[in-house]
Amino acid sequence: MKIDLRSDTVTKPTQGMLQAIMHAQTGDDVYKEDPTVNELERRVADLFGMDSALFFPTGSMANQAAIKLHTQPGEQLICDKWAHVYNYEGGGVSFNSGVSCKLVDGTRGMITAQQVQESINPPDFYHSPLTTLVCLENTTNKGGGACYDFAEIEKIKTVCDHNKLGLHLDGARLMNALVATGEDPKKYGKVFDTISLCFSKGLGTPLGTVLVGSDTLMEKAIRVRKILGGGMRQIGFMAAAGIYALDHHIDRLAEDHRKATEISEVLANCAYVANVEPTETNIVIFYLQETLSEEKFMKDMEAKGIRLSDMGQGKLRIVTHLDYTDNMHDTMLTTLTNYA
Ligand SMILES: *Cc1c(COP(=O)(O)O)cnc(C)c1O
Repeated sequence: MKIDLRSDTVTKPTQGMLQAIMHAQTGDDVYKEDPTVNELERRVADLFGMDSALFFPTGSMANQAAIKLHTQPGEQLICDKWAHVYNYEGGGVSFNSGVSCKLVDGTRGMITAQQVQESINPPDFYHSPLTTLVCLENTTNKGGGACYDFAEIEKIKTVCDHNKLGLHLDGARLMNALVATGEDPKKYGKVFDTISLCFSKGLGTPLGTVLVGSDTLMEKAIRVRKILGGGMRQIGFMAAAGIYALDHHIDRLAEDHRKATEISEVLANCAYVANVEPTETNIVIFYLQETLSEEKFMKDMEAKGIRLSDMGQGKLRIVTHLDYTDNMHDTMLTTLTNYA
């Protein structure tokens, strides 16, 4: 049995999703004539109570387009030091938008309104880059699937409003946060200027991220998507997978969260584990005792058919997902317990 817990991106479409893909009505989406893409975009916009939405091939491209929409070359955005937009998008912030990042030393990938306030360069001090955007991540990836306290997000929004800053949410795993906290997505639609939502993570589609925002921003987003090479043709096949996921794969995220919590509890009781980060959603981050190297542990696990991720700085990551069955979970818990 192969147990792949490197990421929630490793899932394959279910039979039901494959059926939805096979039966999708499609058209040329570059002409906005793909009815299934139009339907998915409408549904996601309505979900967040926002004007309109646009389907992108990847989360990175959706984030990069959002950053481009909110900034001009030479300007600066504020994000946590672990942010995906800074660490895992190939330096796209500077390549695509000519923007620099002011990194904030947050907690588990999350930053506070006070930290945002302190990171804003004075707009009349022309020696420093002009701060124009704040990017938040919810849930946080490198922060171990942590969920923001919405009250803090509202405070950040107030700081943004006072300082004329855009506010973008990298919501690659926002659905996990919404399921974990029971929050209404419309609250998010009210405070953020743009939100990206990935379908290829916990929602289990082969590809696709939807970016939502105001009509004005999203009209511009189509051009940016074209520039980045993200205009797709009969992509309704993949949008059908996204619609299927909205209908069938949201509530079940609670199961991924339960399994992650159980793994986390088992790890906390293992003598070879030094520390486990609090587990709120589907990501478990833990550290080994100094006597056991990450390399050896990963190799031993691999030999037992179990794969996980080494995030560097001693961080090991496990991500639960749709293709991680109850059977695999039992084996996983036993293997972790008996490892010594
Ligand atoms: C996965 C992820 C993305 C998007 O990644 P792609 O591989 O480009 O789809 C963006 N932000 C976060 C936090 C992620 O985990």
